[in-house]
Amino acid sequence: MPLESLLGDGWQVVPYFYNPNIQPREEYDRRLDVWRAFLDELGLSSVVGPYDSGPWDEKVGSLGGPYPLVPGMPDYQTNQKARLKRCRACYGLRLESAASLAGEAGCRYLDTTLTISPYQFTHEVLDALGSAAALLGKESLGNDWHGRYPLSVQRSRALGMYRQNYCGCRFSEQEARIERQARRREERGEMRGERGELGGEGESWERRVVCEATWVNQC
Ligand code: SF4
Repeated sequence: MPLESLLGDGWQVVPYFYNPNIQPREEYDRRLDVWRAFLDELGLSSVVGPYDSGPWDEKVGSLGGPYPLVPGMPDYQTNQKARLKRCRACYGLRLESAASLAGEAGCRYLDTTLTISPYQFTHEVLDALGSAAALLGKESLGNDWHGRYPLSVQRSRALGMYRQNYCGCRFSEQEARIERQARRREERGEMRGERGELGGEGESWERRVVCEATWVNQC
């Protein structure tokens, strides 16, 4: 949806796929294939960044995990803090690469599809986007695509697109699995007695832009 919206608003978009966070390699290849097929429909092609796990492991992977967020569990706040720090580093790494491409491609603006996901830390994404753009002398469009998420789910289903059930990194695969299991147990009423006393927070070129494509979590 973000790409179509930008195109509809008259932007010239340079799609960029830089996701060294995605593991395993087969999952990366699968998402890249879907991304390319989608762009093909729009008459676009993507710049693809290197699948270099080294910088990601050093700057992001070293922050560890898994940090599952199970509402009401005693470690909720600690995990949330740790996960937020790790994900912020991950956004920064990928968006700085997108900003660097904007320099090479002669784009003045930068945007990302990440904010469409309700599973990401929107404030951190926008902050990382703004910092990455400023670092390379670019401007952030700072679009919050959040409101288009339901439409994007409908659309991807209608197109028969692959919908992944974790964000991308090896930690997120474990986190999503633990959170899904907790949700199922909650639905079956098996979580009583496991929650801590304090509980958690509860969950319940002018008009030329590099749009960094980051896969959204659709658990
Ligand atoms: S959960 Fe997603 S955003 Fe966070 S570190 Fe893993 S891949 Fe990056």
